[in-house]
Amino acid sequence: MSSSTAHRDPPFRVEQVGSFLRPEYLLETRHRWEEKKASGEELRKAEDKAIKEIVKLQQDCGFHGINDGEYRRHMFWGTFWENLGGMVTSPVTDLQAFRHYVPDVKALLQNVHSTGETISCRGKLTHTAAASKDNLQQLHYLQEILPKEEHCNIKLTFPAPSWFHLRFRNGHAYPKDVYKSDDEYFADVIQVYEKELQVLYDHGLRSVQFDDPNICYFCNTEMIEEFNKDKSNNCTADELFDKYIEVYNKIMTKVPKGMHIGVHLCRGNFAKSQHFTEGAYDRIAARLLRNLDVHTLYLEFDTERAGGFEPLKHLVAGKTVILGVISSKFPELEDLNETVARIREAAKWVAKGRGVSEEEALDQLGVSPQCGFASHSSGNAITWDDMVAKMKLVRSVADKVWPGQP
Ligand SMILES: [Zn+2]
Repeated sequence: MSSSTAHRDPPFRVEQVGSFLRPEYLLETRHRWEEKKASGEELRKAEDKAIKEIVKLQQDCGFHGINDGEYRRHMFWGTFWENLGGMVTSPVTDLQAFRHYVPDVKALLQNVHSTGETISCRGKLTHTAAASKDNLQQLHYLQEILPKEEHCNIKLTFPAPSWFHLRFRNGHAYPKDVYKSDDEYFADVIQVYEKELQVLYDHGLRSVQFDDPNICYFCNTEMIEEFNKDKSNNCTADELFDKYIEVYNKIMTKVPKGMHIGVHLCRGNFAKSQHFTEGAYDRIAARLLRNLDVHTLYLEFDTERAGGFEPLKHLVAGKTVILGVISSKFPELEDLNETVARIREAAKWVAKGRGVSEEEALDQLGVSPQCGFASHSSGNAITWDDMVAKMKLVRSVADKVWPGQP
């Protein structure tokens, strides 16, 4: 981005990366609905009630950016791709269609001997009114229950544009008679994202977060080696990484002015706190922090598998990094002062890389739980009380580092 002034509020000093644990009554109603024992109306009512409660909890904990806990979704990727023309939700039975070395595919094949729920491209991707219906429902309900002056603080999450590309082997992500190349496929992906963002902007949405575990897979040397050994690939892993960055950057050129865009990276956050990949940011940091033209990066930093803060020396002016230093996977509560010290350590690296003071560097940072608390609706292996304690801790950390700031 040409601007050296960062987008602010959003991101706030305290951010939530996405989902919250579902209350038991919501899980139970959804389960009955899946078994056709509860009506869609019953499910919606349970979702409405749960969303009101989770919005209040966010406000009570001092969070200014508000989301609906992803309570109307089963998985974090939600309800966008399956609503696009050309996409089909049905099992892909040919396991050879998948890249078995892509970390989530690998883990699912090992654990459940399938690739999980799969949405795949079977025709030309198109964006019709139906594509937006679920996102609009999620947005409109939050607008209904929040005062008008807070509508600009509503955040909606999206799956990464590459989510239904990387997992498939070269030539299997889309029909060859529809798209001749990845470039043709991504030209349509870019278009459908641009259209969706415009629709949501027109309806008042001002903050978007893309959830992109795929990018972290490029920190995993094992996956890189396997990718580069796979003779069916027509590019290297690094070239594909650059292509994924370019896809975002093309989308960014059409994002309406005043709309905040962030990208969340993590190493997987599946049911019961399962992660999929490991590896520090060093391998990708320079290209990620310099070339990806979004306003904010939400980065995992809660365990050693994400490495240290040194890669933040590549952060450039005009971008914010939200440090996911409070684990959303484990119940143990982090120490307040140690967490504050970690944030100052992160700021040191930003300051060093940019040649600015640590106070200036801190201005480019914020804090959050590492990921959602329930990217899969069944949730992480922590309790409701653990989650609330983590939320309060994030607020306390921010109040120590950035007193008086939202
Ligand atoms: Zn995550």
